[in-house]
Amino acid sequence: MVENVIQIPLAVGEDLVISKNRIGSGPKRLCVVTGTHGDELEGQYVAWRLNRLLQEKARFLKGTVDIYPALNPLGISTMTRGIPQYDLDMNRTFPGSREGVMSEFVASELIEDLAGADVCIDIHASNIFLREIPQVRINVNTAETLVPLAKRLNLDFVWIHESATVLESTLAHSLNARNTPTLVVEMGIGMRITRSYGDQLLAGIVSLLAYLGMWTGPVPPVRPPLVSGNEAVHFLNADCPGIFFPTSDHKTRVQAGQELGIIADPLTGEVRQRVCSPAEGLLFTLREYPVVYEGSLLARILGDCI
Ligand SMILES: [Zn+2]
Repeated sequence: MVENVIQIPLAVGEDLVISKNRIGSGPKRLCVVTGTHGDELEGQYVAWRLNRLLQEKARFLKGTVDIYPALNPLGISTMTRGIPQYDLDMNRTFPGSREGVMSEFVASELIEDLAGADVCIDIHASNIFLREIPQVRINVNTAETLVPLAKRLNLDFVWIHESATVLESTLAHSLNARNTPTLVVEMGIGMRITRSYGDQLLAGIVSLLAYLGMWTGPVPPVRPPLVSGNEAVHFLNADCPGIFFPTSDHKTRVQAGQELGIIADPLTGEVRQRVCSPAEGLLFTLREYPVVYEGSLLARILGDCI
């Protein structure tokens, strides 16, 4: 049943409406949220497929699944990453405040609605610059609780971050702080939908439902992910501005010294930088947007795992 979690009149004679579809019933609850960043659309396909699957196979569902396809509906409808007009990253507004301005109020109401779920999955899609393999990102402080859940999701990689890099104003941090285990999925690229990644995650969500005792139907086979700490991840940044052409394929294994791409100067025909891998490993992040500046992130390699 579709419910409006939040409905607030806007100055332009429209309403800000954030909706969820509740499927099934019972005390156990899985929440699937996406669309916090209006330019990240990979989760739209997952929400659609999950809706259809759970409605077609309702007899297997033992519990409640809430699907929130658009936490930032104004961003999605205007192709804007943040909250339009405010230029505000919604994922820096949590946990919000009931007494605050609209964005803070919205954040607070969403936390209230999501808190208490057995698991929440927050689906992101990188940004328009970088393509990512399907992965779960976890803070080391919550790894003990979240890694066993993340392993059910059929994704390629579980990236455990050091606590120094934690952003306390994210939805996931706020929910985890309220003892609502929340998994952040990053996959694909902004403004596009990679259906194979969505299908992969969908199988993982069914597997997680079964793991939680919420699914009695057939469970697709799930691949174990690579699990890493920060020390196994190598970052490659641009030394100079220019146009980046990848010369290795995303999601492939690369050798130490292998060329991953070049930074070209279209004015002179010069190759300004040859970008080579510092280590053998999995090319799990690769720049898609060609224009780069000094310091732009070009690639990330997952080296030997712990
Ligand atoms: Zn995002």
